[in-house]
Amino acid sequence: MEKILNLLNIANTAIPKEKKLITTSLAKATWYLKKGDPVAIPTETVYGLAANIYNENAVKKIFEIKKRPAFNPLIVHVASIDSMEEVAENIPPIAYTLAEKFWPGPLTLILEKKSTILDCITAGKKTVAVRMPNHKMTLELIKRVGFPLAAPSANPFGSISPTSAQHVANYFKKELNVVLDGGECEKGIESTIVGFENGKVILYRLGVISKEMIESVVGEVELLNVDENQPKAPGMLHKHYAPKTKMIMSEQPLKRANEMLGSKIGLLIFGNENLPDSRYIAKNLSENGDVFEAAKNLYAHMHQLDEMGLELIIAQKFPDSGIGKSINDRLSRACWSEMNYTSTNIFSE
Ligand code: AMP
Ligand code: MG
Repeated sequence: MEKILNLLNIANTAIPKEKKLITTSLAKATWYLKKGDPVAIPTETVYGLAANIYNENAVKKIFEIKKRPAFNPLIVHVASIDSMEEVAENIPPIAYTLAEKFWPGPLTLILEKKSTILDCITAGKKTVAVRMPNHKMTLELIKRVGFPLAAPSANPFGSISPTSAQHVANYFKKELNVVLDGGECEKGIESTIVGFENGKVILYRLGVISKEMIESVVGEVELLNVDENQPKAPGMLHKHYAPKTKMIMSEQPLKRANEMLGSKIGLLIFGNENLPDSRYIAKNLSENGDVFEAAKNLYAHMHQLDEMGLELIIAQKFPDSGIGKSINDRLSRACWSEMNYTSTNIFSE
């Protein structure tokens, strides 16, 4: 039935003429989404790989394209606060308070799902993740297609998230027909994920909206223990967002690099006190020491270092509070070695 409706919907729309994979054509993106093909979309966090939440086949294609295990639920993207009620029920008042404060924006809410929400989106859970992204093009797209979009990040599972249309095209040239180009992502790291359990607010994943920012609205919140063997959110897997090149974290990256002379090392640094030695390739996330700028540049700089054929990337550890804590979270998941390879992090292989 759904398929027939979808076909009727696009039957009177001509096949889009635009042939290029990277495009700004909302008409082309709309056509493919209605047809049931996933489309890459821009958001302020990272690029997403989106499909109609009511089309099971389309949603399943996302998992195939990403090689994402079925136990990893997807985030549903809506175009208004009211649309929360299309996908969730028994919404606690505090969820509305948070949505009013931070939406459109990089905050995902975990809510009780409506029965209309497909199990493949929620990985069989009774909860659904919902967010209203702060990107004009994508909000317009959601309104045009007339259904919310299920979308995880548009990268192969476990690898560095994409923050430009080109990053997505580099990953999925063959698999996709449309990468909707909305420029570089303004925030640059994945959304903060918040849930509600027994009247308490729980932080499942750190993001540009820091723990402190959430607490300023709702009082003290609990950060879920990230060492759990059964992570509630895949963003909490020990190895995630990872480059192909081995990466380690250090408070003094240059000193650490000097101890390893002879190796082909890249430095991922921050602020101006850490001026790079000319022997090393260095990428500075923010010379002014601006954590927002650093978050925005994080994945693009990691992508660049990863293409340079290095033996090792040494990333500078950030001051561990606010957004610095969220960046450290992503950096530590991007670091991997045989030494810290435990049973927990094989989840993201
Ligand atoms: P990604 O956009 O690739 O980071 O993936 C979406 C994120 O949302 C993953 O980390 C999911 O675990 C998280 N997520 C989606 N639905 C739920 C849910 N019902 N409970 C907890 N986390 C969720
Ligand atoms: Mg992801």
